[in-house]
Amino acid sequence: MQTIRTTCPYCGVGCGVLAERQAPDGEWSVRGDPDHPANYGRLCSKGAALAETVELPQRLLKPTLRDADGHLESTNWETALDRVASGFREAIAEHGPESVAFYVSGQLLTEDYYLANKLMKGYLGAANIDTNSRLCMSSAVAAYNRAFGSDTVPVSYEDLERADLVVLIGSNTAWAHPVVFQRLMAAKEARPGMRFVVIDPRRTATCDIADLHLPVAPGTDILLLNGLLAHLAERGKIDTGFVEAHVEGFESTLAAARAEGTDLDNIAQRCGLPVEDIQRFYDWFATTQHSVSLWSQGLNQSASGTDKGNAVINLHLATGRIGRPGMGPFSITGQPNAMGGREVGGLANQLAAHQGFAEADIDRVRRFWQAPNLATRPGLKAVDLFEAMRDGRIKAVWIMATNPAFSLPDSDTVREALEACPLVVLSECHAGTDTAAFADVLLPASTWGERDGTVTNSERCISRQRPFIDAPGQARPDWWIIGQVARRIDPDWAPAFDFPDSASVFREYARQTAFENAGSRDLDLSGLAGISRQEYDALSPTRWPVTGTTARETTTDGAAATELFADGRFFTADARARMIPVTNRGAASALTPAFPLRLNTGRLRDQWHGMTRTGAVPRLNAHRSEPAASVHPFDAARYRLRGGQIARIGNARGEILARVTLDDEQRPGSLFVPMHWSRLTASRSGVNTVIAPDTDPVSGQPEFKTQAVWAEPY
Ligand code: SF4
Repeated sequence: MQTIRTTCPYCGVGCGVLAERQAPDGEWSVRGDPDHPANYGRLCSKGAALAETVELPQRLLKPTLRDADGHLESTNWETALDRVASGFREAIAEHGPESVAFYVSGQLLTEDYYLANKLMKGYLGAANIDTNSRLCMSSAVAAYNRAFGSDTVPVSYEDLERADLVVLIGSNTAWAHPVVFQRLMAAKEARPGMRFVVIDPRRTATCDIADLHLPVAPGTDILLLNGLLAHLAERGKIDTGFVEAHVEGFESTLAAARAEGTDLDNIAQRCGLPVEDIQRFYDWFATTQHSVSLWSQGLNQSASGTDKGNAVINLHLATGRIGRPGMGPFSITGQPNAMGGREVGGLANQLAAHQGFAEADIDRVRRFWQAPNLATRPGLKAVDLFEAMRDGRIKAVWIMATNPAFSLPDSDTVREALEACPLVVLSECHAGTDTAAFADVLLPASTWGERDGTVTNSERCISRQRPFIDAPGQARPDWWIIGQVARRIDPDWAPAFDFPDSASVFREYARQTAFENAGSRDLDLSGLAGISRQEYDALSPTRWPVTGTTARETTTDGAAATELFADGRFFTADARARMIPVTNRGAASALTPAFPLRLNTGRLRDQWHGMTRTGAVPRLNAHRSEPAASVHPFDAARYRLRGGQIARIGNARGEILARVTLDDEQRPGSLFVPMHWSRLTASRSGVNTVIAPDTDPVSGQPEFKTQAVWAEPY
């Protein structure tokens, strides 16, 4: 039996996977890794089907160039890499460093992300590297940074199991993070007194464990959460000792919350909820010390997503429920390496190793990298970056492991941007994505099962992805491709990109987290800074910070041995946390008689992103085989929609087609369409065709959940 320990490539739970085969030429199977602290052997439907995706269809196998007539021609690596390097070099020479951009992905490994960030921000001289993680959790990053002075998730999966009250806000955990949901169900079975509150306009599968479901009206979350803060103050449930010792901004935040109105009947009416349900939620939160609030895209994917995150964090700071087992504000990430990307500076407004663009950070990063052209100001965030491409400011873009022509809002406009860009480079494992149609250079990248590196999951746990098959054709690791392009842009840069393997990239990244970091920054991997190739190969799942040991910091019963913020010290200049006054701004797009319905988008249980991997597994397609619009029977009757028939759904941006499913678990006035089908896989166009590019002013994250639309029979 051959067994390789690796990590699932889908969601941010980061489950450990054992890839196994009986004989050297046998077929691979997978099962959950019983020793991995994220899943202890569990897998969901997607993870359990991974063995069926080892040989993906439509692999991009060779470097490919588009000729002057628009035809794709295979070429060799030398020619393709030279073409990318000369294109970027010429764009910078003629138009300056801010005329080039990278758009990367939470699917990349940390090592890939690290080198992409180093090349763009340290050597090309701009910070125009952003990531599809911008669409996923950048509002949570901004909220944590505002509150703690650092992008620190201070909660673990064990904390969820230890809590007496778990509040799930804007999170269909049962489908989007299924193994965490399995753990929650098991915890409830072991401790039936444990309570769950689910705050979501839809009655989702997650409500199966809810003691209380609050189908809050779209765009009223902050009203509900501010009401809770005012209620806690009213009942004397503020931890005044903690607030006085460790928190700034309490009075102004409470005043802002009270200004929203404290009358429960009024809150209930505006949130569209029964007053007694709000009263019950407030009572449970007020009286349950061990409370975890878990949130996801329902809050993040909003034009006020950062404020929503801070509305949650405010509650935990006001009650001192942070830094101790079984409590805290927990943003769960969507992608397998959304957290790793944040760590190495994958967002346009960050530098590497959780550093920003303060003068001291710029100086430190410049010296560590000995960077000749360090970017000194933030770059363009995803939506702005593609807008800059459309209006001609971006002359060359390199897209890695993502499909923006499908996944960004207002996708027809994104397609125009790609069409307008003189040089589009795409590193991909799949030959036929929507974005590939716009690429001038296609670079075949290796993928799960072939790649070697690390990812960080939602609870700050670094795990290894290990290869167990050879990459097909000429596919290569992303970190290798990036290094090859760097040395071709300027041969003097070769030493800075001379890495023989992913372990050596990781070692440099770990050293950077420790560089001039005497406890001043949360992310510290000094314990891994000298890691050898053998230790890297054997690395067991490890939660950061790792200061002096590579062992996972757990007690014998699996609980975190140390809780960040246990000492009440945060990473702001004065070590005090910040409560942030927030007010309810509602949904970004207004309902009108012409656009009377709210369109919500999200994941299905058995699919992942654009389905390039999960779509290849017949049994995963059995759950839902086509884009369906879930519509409440009340709305169906009102808009003449019949179950099983095709509906047109649209607004000023365009329209989509979807088969109607009558679903009384939708909130009347809202409909839900899954995100997974694109123009290529749906009959007309993907749902993001009709999503406006409304973004959060702090984080730049777009709103995907409350688009005003009309619907009618096709
Ligand atoms: Fe993979 Fe997420 Fe399922 Fe775990 S829960 S097996 S990480 S998709």
